[in-house]
Amino acid sequence: MMYLWNNGEVIELPIGKAVCVGRNYVAHAAELGNEVPTEPLLFLKPASSIVNAEGEVALDHSLGEHHYEAELMLLIGKPLNKDNLADYKSCIAGFGVGLDLTLRDEQAKLKAKGHPWERAKAYDKSCLVSRFVPLAESDLTHSEFSLSINNELRQSGDTNLMIFKIEQLLSEIVRYFSLQPGDIVLTGTPEGVGKLNIQDTLSVSLNGETLANCTIA
Ligand code: ZN
Repeated sequence: MMYLWNNGEVIELPIGKAVCVGRNYVAHAAELGNEVPTEPLLFLKPASSIVNAEGEVALDHSLGEHHYEAELMLLIGKPLNKDNLADYKSCIAGFGVGLDLTLRDEQAKLKAKGHPWERAKAYDKSCLVSRFVPLAESDLTHSEFSLSINNELRQSGDTNLMIFKIEQLLSEIVRYFSLQPGDIVLTGTPEGVGKLNIQDTLSVSLNGETLANCTIA
């Protein structure tokens, strides 16, 4: 597995961890009956969960129903930690759109018991990533992204609707997890999450440009 750049070239970065943000859009917190958090809700997905959202993506359906969450994604190109946070813009190599896949039934059981979420969130192929595009200054505060399934728009979001903006998220993340080249950050999903079905065709776009197409198997 390799990250892809917008022109189809492979990015010379190792596949790292994904740091994910939960409940970062008011309407999504509401649709799952969750309260709006007062600080970012963070969790991790390992490198083994990351796959390109291209071609056929075969999921293990014996685990349960896979639900999609489309999210704006940052690719880290240079080490970012507490000491160089002021330079965070220069540490972001590019933007993409990721799908944070979730075993929603499993997650509900784990939440009810107060257990960690890894079984529901960090399993193999639970992090689908698009190609990446270069960062423009304006993208940090105003980027639109969307997910269509079988040519029907299912989710659309804009970075200006985030509860915690990108700079706030990174500042909270690096208090706990320093970021390395090849790590990615998933910044939370807007409303419209739902179940994936076999043979669904997925397409994600960023600022009107299609960045990935895949079919679920
Ligand atoms: Zn998510």
